[in-house]
Amino acid sequence: MIQVSDLSHTFPVGNNTGFTVLNNINFEIEQGKIAAIMGKSGSGKSTLLNLLSGYLKPRTGRIVLNDKDVTGFNENEWAKFRLNNLGFVFQSYQLISSMTVFENVQMPLMVKGISPGRRTELVFEMLEKVGLYSHTEFYPDQLSGGQQQRTSVARALINNPEILLADEPTGSLDSYNEKLLLELIYQLNDELGITVLLVTHDKEVAEKSHEIIRVKDGHIIEQDDDRDF
Ligand code: ADP
Ligand code: MG
Repeated sequence: MIQVSDLSHTFPVGNNTGFTVLNNINFEIEQGKIAAIMGKSGSGKSTLLNLLSGYLKPRTGRIVLNDKDVTGFNENEWAKFRLNNLGFVFQSYQLISSMTVFENVQMPLMVKGISPGRRTELVFEMLEKVGLYSHTEFYPDQLSGGQQQRTSVARALINNPEILLADEPTGSLDSYNEKLLLELIYQLNDELGITVLLVTHDKEVAEKSHEIIRVKDGHIIEQDDDRDF
């Protein structure tokens, strides 16, 4: 699960007071739930995800992920923790263009030192799950936007993380592919029990999640966690 308490972040901009983006944020997401984060552009959603993945260091506050207080982690600890516990999906896919679907998805397993035979097994199993079994040798520019994003979901989940962080993952997709990708994320949440934090503009998407967290001007204005799924 995810526990965030009194989390604040200030970017060092301009004068020495800086620019405060998040102000004493508090929320909790239970294990296995999908939470949608909503809020206008510039409200601090990506900053929040970057804090939760250690790419930014909070000015104040505490972050607990899977019962582990990660707030004081150094770079090494974060790298190790990410590899074993977190998956990411970004709006812009961020696939490596010189690598095939198979090679992109197996990357985290290589970093982890998994043997080639086992890697092949795991990658094919995952590509089957996301519906790309027949595209393993394609390069990203030979795929549709939806297929590219499904590749990046496969890469995010290949290490069996307990938490998936998705920053507007359907933002570059047409509505048909958006629907397919969300169905896939909901299905994987159901099958694998991963906790999902999903930034979205889409009201309909948010309505389907277990919880909605609304961010405005760096504050959480509402957490609706008593939803019928
Ligand atoms: P969202 O994802 O909700 O659109 P962001 O978290 O990307 O919002 O940004 C929130 C605010 O923080 C914006 O006003 C943005 O200009 C500012 N911001 C984001 N990144 C930086 C940075 N590296 N340095 C300074 N300000 C930043
Ligand atoms: Mg953003």
